[in-house]
Amino acid sequence: MTALILNDVCKSFGAVEVLRDINLTVEEGEFVVFVGPSGCGKSTLLRVIAGLEDATSGTVNIGGDVVNAIPPAKRGIAMVFQSYALYPHLSVRDNMALGLKQEKQPKSEIDARVDKATKMLDLGKYIDRRPADLSGGQRQRVAIGRAIVREPKLFLFDEPLSNLDAALRMNTRIEIAELHRTLSASMIYVTHDQTEAMTLADKIVVLRDGRVEQVGSPMELYNNPANQFVAGFLGSPA
Ligand code: ADP
Ligand code: MG
Repeated sequence: MTALILNDVCKSFGAVEVLRDINLTVEEGEFVVFVGPSGCGKSTLLRVIAGLEDATSGTVNIGGDVVNAIPPAKRGIAMVFQSYALYPHLSVRDNMALGLKQEKQPKSEIDARVDKATKMLDLGKYIDRRPADLSGGQRQRVAIGRAIVREPKLFLFDEPLSNLDAALRMNTRIEIAELHRTLSASMIYVTHDQTEAMTLADKIVVLRDGRVEQVGSPMELYNNPANQFVAGFLGSPA
């Protein structure tokens, strides 16, 4: 089963074309990284996959089903944002549990999943705190925990580490790689950081101006960049 197939996906805001004929496949369990300059459409593409924006044309197929008309909560995906997007009035535990309560999962199931994510992310000490009483790195781990408890088939990460300092970025990157191995879920990860792209990706998608410029493994793109633009992003001399 293929995790995601995008077929000729286009997105315009008014007269402005932001995504143009995006074709892309993500295999089950694959870690796919989107890179490209600011404004090239990376976040918009994630939001179209998540259902937070409608594609203007083209189809989004998740796990074998066309989901264009399916709301975000029913797509089997979970998204982690750069800004964490936690609820300030809820504890760590309740932030993680909220989506499951909305899904009307039984309390025993909610508790079991929240406990498991808490252990995976080492959040036990902070479980009753509010987001305001956590560091940036701790907040981002809560946001990741909130995604994990949903047990999605496909995770979407939008520059999840860019608000963290360098040391924390490296630790959290390693944690995300471990999660990918443990959960055997598919992941799409947006970054403008070359190290993150090269170390995390099975496959890198280079976006430019709303189009796919090149797709390949990190080594393929590093050794055979299609042009100076791709080479510039991945650090090899073209
Ligand atoms: P990236 O994440 O690669 O930096 P975005 O997907 O956020 O890029 O934005 C791509 C382009 O789409 C930008 O020019 C941005 O201004 C525009 N855009 C994004 N969202 C909207 C919106 N809701 N309305 C109008 N334009 C938007
Ligand atoms: Mg963005």
